[in-house]
Amino acid sequence: MSTHNDDFPTDNPAVVTCGLPYANGDLHIGHLRGYIGADAFNRALQTLGQETAYVCGSDMHGTPVAVNAEQQGVDPADFALDWHEQYEETFPKFNVDFDNYGHTHDETNTELTQEIVRKLDDEGYIYEKEIQVAYDPDADQYLPDRYVEGTCPYCGEKARGDECDEGCQRHLEPGEVEDPTSTITGNPAEYRERTHKFFEVSEFADFLTEFLDGLEGTSNARNQPRQWIEDGLQDWCITRDMDWGIDYPGEDGDGDDLVLYVWVDAPIEYIASTKQYSERVGTDEYDWEQVWKGDGEIMHVIGRDIIQHHTIFWPAMLEGAGYNKPRGIAATGFITINGKGLSTSRNRAIWAKEYLDEGFHPDLLRYYLTTTGGLQQDVDFSWDAFQEKVNGELVGTVGNFWYRSLLFAYRNYEGTPDTDVSAEVEERIEGAIGDVRENVNDYSMRGVGQAATQLAQFGNEYIQRNEPWKLTDEEPEEAAQVIRDCVQIAKAVGVLLEPIAPDKAQDLWEQLGEDGAIADAHLEDALEAPPRNFDEPGELFGKIEDDRVDELTEKLEERVAAASDDGEESDDGDAETESDDTAASESENMAETDDLEPLLEDRIGFEDFQELDIRVGRIESAEGIEGADDLAKLEVDIGFETRQVVAGIKQLHDLDELPGTKCVLLANMEPAELFGVESNGMILAAGEEADLLTTHGDASLGEKIK
Ligand SMILES: [Zn+2]
Repeated sequence: MSTHNDDFPTDNPAVVTCGLPYANGDLHIGHLRGYIGADAFNRALQTLGQETAYVCGSDMHGTPVAVNAEQQGVDPADFALDWHEQYEETFPKFNVDFDNYGHTHDETNTELTQEIVRKLDDEGYIYEKEIQVAYDPDADQYLPDRYVEGTCPYCGEKARGDECDEGCQRHLEPGEVEDPTSTITGNPAEYRERTHKFFEVSEFADFLTEFLDGLEGTSNARNQPRQWIEDGLQDWCITRDMDWGIDYPGEDGDGDDLVLYVWVDAPIEYIASTKQYSERVGTDEYDWEQVWKGDGEIMHVIGRDIIQHHTIFWPAMLEGAGYNKPRGIAATGFITINGKGLSTSRNRAIWAKEYLDEGFHPDLLRYYLTTTGGLQQDVDFSWDAFQEKVNGELVGTVGNFWYRSLLFAYRNYEGTPDTDVSAEVEERIEGAIGDVRENVNDYSMRGVGQAATQLAQFGNEYIQRNEPWKLTDEEPEEAAQVIRDCVQIAKAVGVLLEPIAPDKAQDLWEQLGEDGAIADAHLEDALEAPPRNFDEPGELFGKIEDDRVDELTEKLEERVAAASDDGEESDDGDAETESDDTAASESENMAETDDLEPLLEDRIGFEDFQELDIRVGRIESAEGIEGADDLAKLEVDIGFETRQVVAGIKQLHDLDELPGTKCVLLANMEPAELFGVESNGMILAAGEEADLLTTHGDASLGEKIK
């Protein structure tokens, strides 16, 4: 990726932010992934010598908060503040080390928001317009954003009032959602005419195109907005008919209850929080104005569902109000649990509190979440995979190497042998430092973690190859050299791993007898000699046992089952359809492999493959299943017999055209029942459009795919 920016570290101060959590519910692994990823990125920048601050805050406003507070019959301010305080306590427990954590309802943000909106108004970027606003006649109330649901006018999926959360991820303007229904009463909503304020985003198309060309981060954060700009930018309605929020400047007092849309004041909290940090440490130490109004490096880590807010609306607002623009935006993929979408309503989630209560160290989760997939990729969590990663990489590779090399050094030399590091090992460490540098500049925390683990892997091989335990008596100098090298590698692994596993790295630091905090170390310190003497080391990682994993997996399954017993079962049919990454399908840019599901790293044996009984078939008939939006019932001839199969292709194919089509069927799929129809096999298809797999020669029906 070519950009116009200098590599990190630069001479300018940087700020790293992470999307604000809505102050309306418990934190779970889906949240943590972003905050941990951004925290690791910020720490990694510091190890490069970059001056940075990591700031964030709770999002107190908006309808997600108002709706939930209303349901519980409490004041939204109290409701949001309660959650805010919980978040403030929870993040540090995962070593998410914000330099400042504010909230959008505090004075700094309120003042700054009104100042920026006034400035946009003065510059002529805000105008008034009459629009249709959803209204619930029974509740006698306007229905902004999440007070209304309906159908997305762009893709036809079910959508919230302000975003197409299940479909194309677009931001939706008031009045856009079709077939509006009130979420207060469940009744159909009316549209009524109201005067609202609009921000002229359309004026910024050229600016935004250029901005995106220079933007670093993940490719999805560039590609999606390019498409939106091409489709034509719409101006944004920036006011809402609500009490809860920041008043439109100068508008209060006319009884009209116009507050600013939450997406105006939420990102401004990035600036407000930086300002608070700056005011606390002094502008000599860190100057928020240099960052936000001068030449600072601004990096946002966000969820991919809020790309539009951060790549269109936000930079336009910054430009219009005379602020600096972001250098990088990294949009993270989602978390799935045991291969299925994380769902808080179904209790299919790993909660932050739960993880800690189970007694696991936060660094284990940090390592899992940052190294299992790239930032942009979806990451699946299962207790099995967690165990495998921890036992394999942290216990087996890193912990094992740390312990054996330090213990050997302690027993034979009471610390670091008194000699210099060999050229081979020095070079290897320099190589790892170079890898980290490159990966930080590529926004790849996974790459940073891998560089550290691979260095430990090298250390294990080095010790194995040189067998110092055989040398101590006969070749004492050679033995001392090998152990000296290993102690240096151990220290280097600690320095490299610190952004991802800060506590464990600090423990190692102390075992080596180093002073101060490893968090203050720079990458080059990985090559500095450790202290001559240190005490007997202890093991820093413990294995996760199988029965522990079984117990946790069972617990999770039981509570998901309990939650779905309470809820409607009718939506189970589409529970596994995912892959909502619109960039890949809309642009049909097959070269953008970053937008594809990641390749699985685990290889399977040929025997595993042979367990799949895949056959050539022919579709004999196809009809829709009543009551199921996506499902069709197919009769498929596979030579020996005709199978009835249910497939999620109703909306993607013309069912009348399908009979006679050759297809590929997984014949030994466990039978299932969907909407009362038995499915006895699975049709194979590719991608979101369910492109049916077939054969191109004359393979006859029933032939096995091998
Ligand atoms: Zn949509």
